[in-house]
Amino acid sequence: MTKPSIYLDYNATAPIRPEARDAVLRAFETAGNPSSVHASGRAARDIVETARKQVGELVGVVPGSVTFVSGGTEANALAIGSAAFAGFNRVIVSEGEHDAVLETAAASGLQVLKMPLDADGVARLDWLEEALSDEGRALVCLMLANNETGVIQPIAETSALVRAADGWLHVDAVQAAGKIAIDFTALGADTMALSAHKLGGPQGVGALVAGTRATIVRQQHGGGQERGRRAGTENVAGIAGFGAAAEAAARDLPSMANQGTWRDALAERVKAVGAVVLGEGAQERFGRLPQTLCLAAEGFASQIQVMNLDLAGVMVSAGSACSSGKVKASRVVDAMGRADLAPFALRVSGGWATTEQDWISCGDAWLAAYSRIGARRREVA
Ligand code: PLP
Repeated sequence: MTKPSIYLDYNATAPIRPEARDAVLRAFETAGNPSSVHASGRAARDIVETARKQVGELVGVVPGSVTFVSGGTEANALAIGSAAFAGFNRVIVSEGEHDAVLETAAASGLQVLKMPLDADGVARLDWLEEALSDEGRALVCLMLANNETGVIQPIAETSALVRAADGWLHVDAVQAAGKIAIDFTALGADTMALSAHKLGGPQGVGALVAGTRATIVRQQHGGGQERGRRAGTENVAGIAGFGAAAEAAARDLPSMANQGTWRDALAERVKAVGAVVLGEGAQERFGRLPQTLCLAAEGFASQIQVMNLDLAGVMVSAGSACSSGKVKASRVVDAMGRADLAPFALRVSGGWATTEQDWISCGDAWLAAYSRIGARRREVA
């Protein structure tokens, strides 16, 4: 029997959607630079502007609010750099933020304050309210959904606090986009980071969405591309793929609910043998991404789980995958007050091409590995 190949690591990167692949290939056939005035240049410009509209529609904004960049990391950096330029003197980041936000904030020269998470992985707004009452205008960075647990944050409530304090709210929506409906205006964010490869587009392209209260100041200098907000010839093919993926993701949003049903069925199976689902309590509050499961079983190390599942043909990850293949105890789980479970956290994440059978097979492989490890431990004892 051949080994199955089941990909359940969409939060690291999603497989490219056929619509996106086609759009990328078509764009490669266009030779022009979008800044050139001749016919080929205008064709390339059309590709970029079509994609800008598609990406804008995914999050409910007009195309002019979208600035294309090289990915989620650069989008976060552009927002934080712009706020620093605008005279904000401190940045408040939630403890659940991705390194792209945490490290950029640390390097920004602004004073950095860490907003704690509660046991469900939700940011502590009581803490934020108090912190905002201190002197000075603050940039607040709160992600829409966490990459490890899928926990959705109270962005609209945060926005009310940030606006009352005349602050700037930056939302990293890299993991949420294409998985849940997003209305930028209703959320009340000032800026929002998006990344193509998390929703079925190519890697190396993303966008910063900016509302009217935010002034984006370019962080790399050169030509006047992206209306002076981001210098450098546009990644036309990547942008084309991003646009097509965004349109397909918006179309497919209703079917994401199935992922939630299948994910929960797997959760019940692992809970029945004693595993814990992290962030589950957030479901009844602001929700969780439907396709993300963060589980932990004491004594079953993250790395051992990842290796055992890989041997069974199931690809998942331990916590955040952006740390160059390093498996370290989950910082997010730690921030939720479960340091005891941090070394055992496993992230299973599906997406647009994931079937019910994929979730079932993942459960079969996990339970088989768990009972093998348990049996071995009992033999040793
Ligand atoms: N923000 C979050 C929440 C992420 O999960 C990631 C990638 O894992 C990023 C930002 C970085 O995005 P990119 O890989 O496009 O730079």
